[in-house]
Amino acid sequence: MISITYRITGLMFLAITLTVFLLVFLANHQMTTLFANYLVDLYQHSDGLVTGHTMMGLQEQEFLNSVHNSLIWVGWAIVLVGLAASYALARSITVPLRKLNAGVREIERGNFAHTVEVDSNDEVQQLAAAFNRMAAALETNNRLRRQLLADIAHELKTPLSVIQGNLEGMIDGVVATDREQLLSLFEESIHLNRLINDLRDLSLAEAGQLSLEKAPADINQLVAHAVGMVKRLAEEKKLQVECDLGRLPTLEVDVNRLRQVVFNLLTNAVRYTNEGGKVTVATAVERREEQEWIAVSVRDSGQGIAPEDLPYIFDHFYRADKSRNRRSGGTGIGLAIVKRLVETHGGSVLVDSRPGEGSCFKVLLPAAAPKA
Ligand code: ADP
Repeated sequence: MISITYRITGLMFLAITLTVFLLVFLANHQMTTLFANYLVDLYQHSDGLVTGHTMMGLQEQEFLNSVHNSLIWVGWAIVLVGLAASYALARSITVPLRKLNAGVREIERGNFAHTVEVDSNDEVQQLAAAFNRMAAALETNNRLRRQLLADIAHELKTPLSVIQGNLEGMIDGVVATDREQLLSLFEESIHLNRLINDLRDLSLAEAGQLSLEKAPADINQLVAHAVGMVKRLAEEKKLQVECDLGRLPTLEVDVNRLRQVVFNLLTNAVRYTNEGGKVTVATAVERREEQEWIAVSVRDSGQGIAPEDLPYIFDHFYRADKSRNRRSGGTGIGLAIVKRLVETHGGSVLVDSRPGEGSCFKVLLPAAAPKA
């Protein structure tokens, strides 16, 4: 490999040397010819013929030599300055490139925290800044991936440990093999199954590979179905569930996925609202940003969410109440799935919540749903 420094320096040097050589040669030639013409002494003979001879004396010869020498020195000076300038120009490109190259190697080795420092204010600096942004994004992704793996392992471990411990107890005869114990094991296995299904859906949605089976749907019917699914849970907690369903146009959606969205929001509303509270589900057409949206909101009179937790509730396994164990809580990815599924439908989820006053989650779907 021939370094760019040598190539740029060599080519520039060649171009400068050729130009200087030509200029000096031409200037010398012109100088000599014109000066010689200037020194010609013309004499007109009696027959009218004009002749001339050059009056080139020692002084004139010295003058010419001195001009020749000066031109040669100036030529050499330009060539040397040109060489130095070409080298400096080439280095100003190759030094940051080498730094970037070293940065790429560090990223290759997995050192995503590496940054490239370039002290210039040009395209190379812009490239270095873009590189640093990419490295920072990779670093964040890597950290999130590691965290997610650790969280998944932790979430899977707990139900499995319970199942294993109970089964061991049963084998040793320490734990009774009765209906109650078997039911508890069954519930653990259901939780495990739900967690794995949720994780699969979430990973597919995050990879943009979740295929939606869209069909024209009545959103109100879908919401009513989801309400029916949480009815028993709400009754157990003596919660009042109210529906306020407006007139909606038919929408092209994946009915099962959207029902899952409403179900997850409703389960949370029921879960985080104390006995005797109220959950309201409402649908309406809203106009926002010069577009029509179908809004499905789930409001509860529950414990609410602290402002410092709000930005994170859609993250995987984020639980505002750290002391809440997963038995009383859900899988910890319910809202992450809601967000992804709604986004896959071209919509968004808004949340408004105050501690002690309750929460309101609003799903906005474009009234003219984009084709999948
Ligand atoms: P989880 O399975 O823990 O409910 P989610 O992803 O569904 O996981 O919710 C994340 C967190 O957001 C919950 O742990 C809870 O702290 C908070 N949260 C979600 N919905 C509500 C709600 N309606 N009221 C209060 N807090 C809520």
